[in-house]
Amino acid sequence: MTDEGLSDGSRLDTALLDAFPKVRLDADNAAFYRGLLREQVVMNRCADCSWWHHPPRSVCPKCWSRQIEPTEVGGEGVIVFRTVLRQGRREAGADYSDGYVVVAVEFDEQPGLRLTGTVVGTPADAVALGQRVRAIWRAIDGRSPRPDFEVIR
Ligand SMILES: [Zn+2]
Repeated sequence: MTDEGLSDGSRLDTALLDAFPKVRLDADNAAFYRGLLREQVVMNRCADCSWWHHPPRSVCPKCWSRQIEPTEVGGEGVIVFRTVLRQGRREAGADYSDGYVVVAVEFDEQPGLRLTGTVVGTPADAVALGQRVRAIWRAIDGRSPRPDFEVIR
């Protein structure tokens, strides 16, 4: 990929490209991934109707406005989907021996505003729908930056 101009006036940088080699970075999603580099969950929000959406798009799915503003979310929410993988692809930080839990978290900002990840610090079998979680950040060699979640006790 070449050094492309983005809608927010910034440019793709090599740190972003190096950190997410498997991601097709574009003008719509660069702010999300740039946020991950800063350990922030940044999602697109409509400047006209305030609706959040994810995955990133160039147009608001609610009012079709193109006035999209990448905005940090608080990182807290509720588990709305949960599954436990007993096997899977070899990936840095993924351990399937006791089950690798995958959840979708709905952030407090808006119903339906979700991000998938895993939960750390709680056995997979004790992770349940409706639990409140917060995004946390762990550096794992060989893994692209992304948030994990921990249960709020
Ligand atoms: Zn809108």
